[in-house]
Amino acid sequence: MDFRFTPEEQAFRMEVRQFIEDEIPDVIKGVEEIHSSHIELEMEVVRKIAARGWLGAAYPKEYGGRGENNVPMTEYILLDELHLGRAAGISLTITYLVSIIGNTLLSIASEDLKQRFIPRILNADIRFAINYSEPDSGNDIASIKTSAMLDGDQYVVNGTKRFITCADTSDYMWSLVRTEKGSRRHRGLSIMLIKTDSPGITTIPYKMMNGIETCDVIMEEVRVPKENLVGQEGQGWSHLMEALSRERFTMINFKGVSGPFDRFVQWVRTAEIDGEHLAEDPVTRQRLARQHLDMVGGKMMQLIAASRAVHNDYVPTVEAAASKSWRAVQSWPKADLAVEVMRSYGLMTEEDANAPIDGLWAAEYCWAGHEMSGAGGLDLNRKIIAQQGLGLPRWSN
Ligand SMILES: Cc1cc2nc3c(=O)[nH]c(=O)nc-3n(C[C@H](O)[C@H](O)[C@H](O)COP(=O)(O)OP(=O)(O)OC[C@H]3O[C@@H](n4cnc5c(N)ncnc54)[C@H](O)[C@@H]3O)c2cc1C
Repeated sequence: MDFRFTPEEQAFRMEVRQFIEDEIPDVIKGVEEIHSSHIELEMEVVRKIAARGWLGAAYPKEYGGRGENNVPMTEYILLDELHLGRAAGISLTITYLVSIIGNTLLSIASEDLKQRFIPRILNADIRFAINYSEPDSGNDIASIKTSAMLDGDQYVVNGTKRFITCADTSDYMWSLVRTEKGSRRHRGLSIMLIKTDSPGITTIPYKMMNGIETCDVIMEEVRVPKENLVGQEGQGWSHLMEALSRERFTMINFKGVSGPFDRFVQWVRTAEIDGEHLAEDPVTRQRLARQHLDMVGGKMMQLIAASRAVHNDYVPTVEAAASKSWRAVQSWPKADLAVEVMRSYGLMTEEDANAPIDGLWAAEYCWAGHEMSGAGGLDLNRKIIAQQGLGLPRWSN
């Protein structure tokens, strides 16, 4: 097994790096999430990326892609470099568009939906929100209640969704709904595309305690054309599993954990607190080395998932669940270690001009808990690994 990138992949990486330096404004560098005030600027950059053909390298030519099966790592390298270049917000937008929704549409949608949406995705001419969670359904997503009942050639949607990031700045919501009356758990679910400005939708944006923006979406008698059903009616659970797998190894990129850790190590090299050089403290050195091993393991897991995903017909479900779980498991010890080593400096936020590393660690500490749940919680991911990875019998609560 040769873990090195090919000369072509290396050349592509350098091209992307240069692009980031030349084209991404400083004001959106260091922004880890998507902020509504940056959307216009971010989309300008994403459109420039699209114009270079980087969004659609592996997409078929009939939908506006380049159809190049020989550039399998393009998406991985692009996202990797965006994280390295501290442009994680742009990376997130691209994963929504191309990695999660575009790829899942390509895999399961009707020809009509592919023709309508994929060219717009590859031109970065459209934005999506992911519309799954509800006030009483987060980790346990099979318990959603939002209903979409067929009435003639339209579905009528009723329900409330919670934490729907970018619902206020998107054109469509990629939505999980219940299309079979009285159905329970995994049965009777479907995926559909709901236009965000449809009559009957109320979107309520709010900020989390670490500044991250998200929304509640209330849908009352919202009419959705039947053609916007994605894949088969009633097969929403298996379509969801595919979309979540794609989310787990792209959007939930391990760089989100290892990138901040790398910046922390860089800071420790020269940092001094109360006259003490942190880099000379044997306990700190041991703990950093220990954490580094876990980081390298996480990067390898992500690389394994990405390298297997290059085969267009293979969704690396188990690999993605493992990679995502490891990221979640590492997020606490990483944040904990940094804040302990930095002592009270670790609690200073970006608002304080004297905060080391731009106040990154206070935000990382607040965010660490969420890592356990986004893109399917730890519990769901462990189930996938147990059942599909280890061959243990199916079990559902
Ligand atoms: C900032 C932010 C952005 C988000 N963006 C989106 C988005 O764009 N689209 C979207 O659809 N959703 C989004 N979410 C929702 C996210 O996916 C949910 O928060 C997540 O699924 C957890 O659900 P919950 O918050 O209801 O917590 P719960 O599911 O209620 O979990 C609460 C706690 O209980 C634990 N727990 C739950 N079940 C079990 C179990 N069986 N075994 C052991 N422990 C368990 C969890 O680990 C957790 O600690 C976002 C959330 C946040 C915070």
